[in-house]
Amino acid sequence: MKELRKRLERERQAVAARLRQLGGTAAIVEEAPAPAGSVFDEADHIQAAEQREMGLMSRERLVDRMEKLTAALQRMEDGSYGTCVECGKAIGTARLKAIPEVATCVACQERLERRRFD
Ligand SMILES: [Zn+2]
Repeated sequence: MKELRKRLERERQAVAARLRQLGGTAAIVEEAPAPAGSVFDEADHIQAAEQREMGLMSRERLVDRMEKLTAALQRMEDGSYGTCVECGKAIGTARLKAIPEVATCVACQERLERRRFD
């Protein structure tokens, strides 16, 4: 758990530094139009979009990330860290190690994502 806290704090510092770099101006991420007659299939397309997103992580996404990291550190403070905010069940250690700022268990995450895309 100590190790996870360190990771969260480090990550929060990194995001804060990036936000400072961006300064007051919001990063504008424009969606590049798909070329006509593209040879990319859907999967390639999604992957390319994800990579672009990571490279040009917008200010909005950084702020969102920051909020998640801060919330996770707060949950560590009040002792609720590692418990799913949706169902109250314990989140697996492997999942926490993979995504330290995660707030929901796998089942709830899947449920929330289905709801979002329905
Ligand atoms: Zn849950």
